[in-house]
Amino acid sequence: MTNILVWNEYGNKPAEDAVYPGGLHKAIAAFLQKNKDFSVTTATLDDEGCGLKKETLDKTDVLVYWAHCRHHELPDDVAAAVRDAVHRGMGVVFLHSAHKSKPFMWLTGSSGSLKWREAAERERIWVTDPTHPIAQGLPETFALEHEEMYGEYFDIPKPDSVIFTGWFEGGNVFRSGVTFTRGYGKIFYFQPGHETFGAFYDKNVQKIIENAVRFTKRNVLLTQLDCPNETESKEPIAKKS
Ligand code: ZN
Repeated sequence: MTNILVWNEYGNKPAEDAVYPGGLHKAIAAFLQKNKDFSVTTATLDDEGCGLKKETLDKTDVLVYWAHCRHHELPDDVAAAVRDAVHRGMGVVFLHSAHKSKPFMWLTGSSGSLKWREAAERERIWVTDPTHPIAQGLPETFALEHEEMYGEYFDIPKPDSVIFTGWFEGGNVFRSGVTFTRGYGKIFYFQPGHETFGAFYDKNVQKIIENAVRFTKRNVLLTQLDCPNETESKEPIAKKS
């Protein structure tokens, strides 16, 4: 069973509620829950401990993270807990505007800045790493009729893989789906998902997020190893006195 926490900053957002009643985290959880091997919970910024307490993160195999206007409200110690949980093996799927969240910028060591245009543009997404597990079951290309333009240059370190590349009708291109590895944790960033355009109802987007959860989920074998966050090394297991 894969334990998934779908986290959304949420708050008082009538425009988001108009497209995703109760918040987009509910819509994401709803399609993930159709997988019998997924156990899905949700949390928001206004929950106790921002919904991201260390004990919660320690039993989470994959955190799906969406945030936009309230990045600054996430306390530094909570952002650090997310970063450290990834180092210890928790997978994370950063969606859309999470590129400017503290956990994303701290994990990638970048500003996460990009070109941006808030307009309902048609986006065509191309699979640019067809052998990658996150691309399995996807067509070579598909379109989203309305998405917010995110364009290059996207300030990120060189990704492990550029699985999806987006082209917008305004002419811009973007590395729309990229992976990183940090510590024992796998990271996937995916660009579609503006809160008023309904991308999370798209079957291809849903398939990508499902694949990303399977790809990034905590690897039990790896987490049995010493944790890279430990400041003091433990006694070697095989040591005999
Ligand atoms: Zn947006």
